Amino acid sequence: MREVKHFIAGQATRGAATRDGDIYNPSTGQIQATVCLGGATDMQAAVDAAKKVQPEWAATNPQRRARVMFAFKQLLEDNMDELAALLSSEHGKVIADSKGDIQRGLEVIEFACGIPHLLKGEYTEGAGPGIDIYATRQPLGIVAGITPFNFPAMIPMWMFGIAIACGNAFILKPSEKDPSLPVRLAELMLEAGAPEGLLNVVHGDKEAVDAVLHHPDIKAVSFVGSSDIAQYVYSTGAANGKRVQAMGGAKNHGIIMPDADMDQVIADFSGAAFGSAGERCMALPVAVPVGKATADEFIGRMQEEMAKLTVGVSSDPDAHYGPVVSAAHRAKVESYIEMGVKEGAELLVDGRGLSLQGNEEGFFIGPSLFDKVTSDMQSYQEEIFGPVLQVVRAENLEEAARLPSEHPYGNGVAIFTRNGLAAREFASKVNVGMVGINVPIPVPVAYHTFGGWKRSAFGDTNQHGPEGIKFYTKVKTVTQRWPSGDVDDQSFIIPTMK
Ligand code: NAD
Repeated sequence: MREVKHFIAGQATRGAATRDGDIYNPSTGQIQATVCLGGATDMQAAVDAAKKVQPEWAATNPQRRARVMFAFKQLLEDNMDELAALLSSEHGKVIADSKGDIQRGLEVIEFACGIPHLLKGEYTEGAGPGIDIYATRQPLGIVAGITPFNFPAMIPMWMFGIAIACGNAFILKPSEKDPSLPVRLAELMLEAGAPEGLLNVVHGDKEAVDAVLHHPDIKAVSFVGSSDIAQYVYSTGAANGKRVQAMGGAKNHGIIMPDADMDQVIADFSGAAFGSAGERCMALPVAVPVGKATADEFIGRMQEEMAKLTVGVSSDPDAHYGPVVSAAHRAKVESYIEMGVKEGAELLVDGRGLSLQGNEEGFFIGPSLFDKVTSDMQSYQEEIFGPVLQVVRAENLEEAARLPSEHPYGNGVAIFTRNGLAAREFASKVNVGMVGINVPIPVPVAYHTFGGWKRSAFGDTNQHGPEGIKFYTKVKTVTQRWPSGDVDDQSFIIPTMK
């Protein structure tokens, strides 16, 4: 059986791993490969490899670093079909969606290609008599990223694309559920001209994560995953003196005003609630129609739309979405459906028990729809991360807007309306990090930044864009004066430049 190994110093290796995890093909439900699970010894090997090359990489001028990113971007484009097929086979998302996953990462690489411009510092001439001040951004050294299963291409590239362009060496600890694509990315970086050891991949579970969090030479950790683990990574990493950004889970609401374009709303919810089987942190699993007429129309039309959805194996070009990632995750999603029923929500479409002919063992779930969900229900409060759409009815915009604002998660939110003033007010006041106005999945482009609020993110800086540059660099400010021959008076007071 195929074995996925660490990628350290440009080589595939088992290192000191004594344990292995299974990699499933979610479409067939069969184990297709194994992945070695590393710990502190393998992390040390990755740090050693990174240490050897990072100082020289940091000293390489930024346009040369950019050239590696340009070459890497080209390789992503050239290998898109192969990469998407590999990604889909382990994740379960359909091929077109895998291409989207890779494309969104590629766009971060495009942003990173502008690193010479992005790292230009600040300069003040004549801040005092004969005194100039300049500030530069220098890399942190060795940094690490810990990533979730649901975007095995985009999220690693959010992190290493920027970190490496800034002059750091990077250690990636990808999800053990779909680890092959991240390794391919590291191989392609090598092919693009990155030195061996600049981008290392160490596989594993909690043990590998703890090895990152406790390693004194790893200066910063970027994490994306579920909220409890994000909080753990944030607090443990920070307690160990690291810079940490840790993105967590989500429960995004879409508010439907009575004046919304309902054709568009139905199309948007269908894709955003069920695309990728709902396994997106920017999915739209909660619909909040305002007023009874809006709710009734939305629910009626949504049911018709859901009847047209095709669930299939990830390689099926006609499938709207594929299986969820694992049998355990399917069981979890189904338990939330059961919970919703017990809590008194009205289950209008039940996606449980879907079996696909010829792929009866695959981890499929049909789309589900709940009406009359209320904010006190546990199934509403928690993230389901599956193809389940919950409708919470509201009487007016104020009541509707309170729901996402008061929800424990605050990643994304959307409002559907033709009323610019209402949308503007909503966007300004809602207590959520990323807002869509008639945009169901408001994931900002690579040169803006990505990040939620509340339990959706721990730490101060967002992913990619200018905040990514900030996260992976430290500022040095130099105050300089050149001898003029005059000697200043001795002074015992703090220097001022009046
Ligand atoms: P997860 O939290 O289970 O795993 C994320 C990473 O943490 C993986 O690399 C995993 O190996 C590691 N990990 C797992 N258990 C651990 C433990 N006990 N201690 C330390 N590390 C551990 O998340 P997942 O299931 O892979 O991904 C789905 C979650 O990620 C969802 O909650 C989703 O909302 C979230 N997510 C958030 C964003 C965002 O930007 N906010 C983006 C994508 C996904």
